[in-house]
Amino acid sequence: MSGNKTSVAIIGGGISGLVCAARLSQLGITNATVFDTGKHAPGGRCSSRFINIEGKLHIFDHAVQFFTVSDPRFAKIVSFLHNKGAVKVWPGKIAHLKLGGKPTEVKNVQAFIGTRGMQSVPECLSSLVHMEGNKWVSNVYWDPLIKKWKVDDHGWFDYLVVAHNGKCAARLMADAGVPQIHNLLKVKFGPVLSPQTNVMQLCSLWVLLFALLRKIEIDFDGAFVDHSDISWIGNNTSKYSAENQMDCWTIISTKTFGANHKVPQEFIPPSTEKEVTHLLLNGFAELTGINRQLVAPCFTKVQLWGAANPLNVLQGEECVFQSSHNVGICGDWLVSPSVEGAAVSGLALAEVLIRHVNGERKDVGLKKRLEPVESEAIGSFPTNKSLFFKPAK
Ligand SMILES: Cc1cc2nc3c(=O)[nH]c(=O)nc-3n(C[C@H](O)[C@H](O)[C@H](O)COP(=O)(O)OP(=O)(O)OC[C@H]3O[C@@H](n4cnc5c(N)ncnc54)[C@H](O)[C@@H]3O)c2cc1C
Repeated sequence: MSGNKTSVAIIGGGISGLVCAARLSQLGITNATVFDTGKHAPGGRCSSRFINIEGKLHIFDHAVQFFTVSDPRFAKIVSFLHNKGAVKVWPGKIAHLKLGGKPTEVKNVQAFIGTRGMQSVPECLSSLVHMEGNKWVSNVYWDPLIKKWKVDDHGWFDYLVVAHNGKCAARLMADAGVPQIHNLLKVKFGPVLSPQTNVMQLCSLWVLLFALLRKIEIDFDGAFVDHSDISWIGNNTSKYSAENQMDCWTIISTKTFGANHKVPQEFIPPSTEKEVTHLLLNGFAELTGINRQLVAPCFTKVQLWGAANPLNVLQGEECVFQSSHNVGICGDWLVSPSVEGAAVSGLALAEVLIRHVNGERKDVGLKKRLEPVESEAIGSFPTNKSLFFKPAK
């Protein structure tokens, strides 16, 4: 196989899939196609909503709130994104908040955000790769004779990359003839890691987006919260349009609240929507000490991330690759449940794949064990390892 002609199908256009494709292209494999379900844009869990309220578009980050950098490989990517104008440092005050207590500032975190919502990150990365958007891949098939993967009716590919997790990924690979890969993709759900830690476990999180007609006086722009229902509150207006009169907020629930109010993600019953909105707004008022009567939104939207964040990650490897079948996996759950973790995993898989194209025959990560993730912030993404750096020109 010559590097230039090698074709790769990447199923999933979140950060891991996009970074994998971009790195492959940089290393000479320009024939990689990223398939993503996103109707409007790729990005998966690193995306934003643009909502028209009273005739004006407002940006809401509905999953990733900001990201940190601790790995020099990721620092290079962030420098690139910074030079392209896709990311900036958020100068906002990030605090830690306890019920009944005063907010204490979280120091030593260099928080990066997109320039136009977190969506700017995947948008910039997708401009470097060949994307097939609004495409749901439902069937893949390995032909051992020609040693290629068929991907729905999109044709044959030399390599397959699974860059998503959850039930869909497990289903997609169930009959693909790669049981070790399928085993790693099996998944459990719940807020507390089950003792059977060698199975990937994901938590669910509720998100409430809301807008107030007037700004409210609060001594922080984003806060990690110790509260029975809420794990994070963040001000989108401070990130993207400080000059606005309106105040646009995101509240993220705890994992326990996510599990206690779980419903089918695509069909949220109106009664659940009402209850979740009510409880999270009450929690917000309680935490901030603002009279509940003043927390009277002109807009609300709830969203359930059924497969929000992994509670365990692969030990010792950053990606998975089965050499005999030209198939690999990347994603946050292999490194850490964060933008950085997803990017590092995508990078690692691109490097492994290139070595395979060049003749190395080696499996990666197939027999590894999963271990609990370290941090508990926003469900479970780590903030404790921030590297302060000046994005390079
Ligand atoms: C509520 C919430 C808050 C978060 N906050 C932060 C934060 O503040 N900071 C931080 O660093 N991280 C945060 N994270 C974690 C971060 O979002 C993820 O770690 C990261 O975005 C994962 O990227 P990924 O590429 O591994 O997966 P994903 O983003 O899940 O990408 C997978 C993609 O594959 C697509 N896909 C799935 N199945 C198919 C199919 N069959 N065919 C085609 N496409 C398919 C999906 O639609 C998706 O676009 C948060 C996550 C959530 C849910």
